[in-house]
Amino acid sequence: MRAEVRPLVLSVVAAGVLSVGGLAWLARDVFGSQATAVSRPSLLELLEEVRQAPPSGAPRRPAPMPPAPLAWSSPLERACPAADWGLRRRLMALLQTLPRETRRIPTDPSNFGERFRQDAFGNRVDPTPRVVVLHETVFGLDSAINTFITPHPRDEDQVSYHTLIGQKGEVVQVLDPAKRAFGAGNSAFNGLWVVTNPKVGGSINNFALHLSLETPLDGENEAPSHSGYTTQQYDAMAVVLADWMRRYRISASHITTHRHVDLGSERADPRSFDWTQLGSRLAALGLHC
Ligand SMILES: [Zn+2]
Repeated sequence: MRAEVRPLVLSVVAAGVLSVGGLAWLARDVFGSQATAVSRPSLLELLEEVRQAPPSGAPRRPAPMPPAPLAWSSPLERACPAADWGLRRRLMALLQTLPRETRRIPTDPSNFGERFRQDAFGNRVDPTPRVVVLHETVFGLDSAINTFITPHPRDEDQVSYHTLIGQKGEVVQVLDPAKRAFGAGNSAFNGLWVVTNPKVGGSINNFALHLSLETPLDGENEAPSHSGYTTQQYDAMAVVLADWMRRYRISASHITTHRHVDLGSERADPRSFDWTQLGSRLAALGLHC
């Protein structure tokens, strides 16, 4: 009954017919003879119903908080590299060519989702990306690509990053940054997570961007370190990050690692990551210091 009433109220209010006489006519006309003095909502109620946002489906409940935050102290903030004009020229040239050379793959929809605007408890959440998580991909680019384009019906098998970077600096866009990649499981960053599925706990995926570097051959194991990443990988990564940082106003201090955000203490990636290499490139691009 109230749902049937609303369109007329909306149309009259929208037309600006807000005189007392107009409202009296509206009340009489809408409710007709079946309305009684007991059940009839007041005109104020009708007006306020018009002004209110439509009720959301689920009743709101407070979402659980992540465990006590382990504050992120960015290694980038410990040094401010001097300007390197040669490096800047090289990266500026790459900024021009990389978008054309980026490979886009048909990631299967089972391996990613849309960013949520509401958590599992009916609370509004901000889906804007505001943290970048770095990873490494241990068994090669082709193996990772194959994983992302393969359908995975089981929740626990579904995985994706936004971007992969091969050892030769090849950039593979797995997902548009607007999508929600399944890059981290139970995770938090600076005391923030979003619970979209209470069965798996909270995660940063709703507000994260995930980038993974292909591991060198000597890292295809569980050793704590390896020979590290190539110059081409650091160059390409800086160019991809520059785009994300400018697009979403993400500061260098919000670039972190899977190891840091993982609440299960099971992830160690990216191993042997050289923050000074990233810092000098972000400084050259005017995004750090
Ligand atoms: Zn990872």
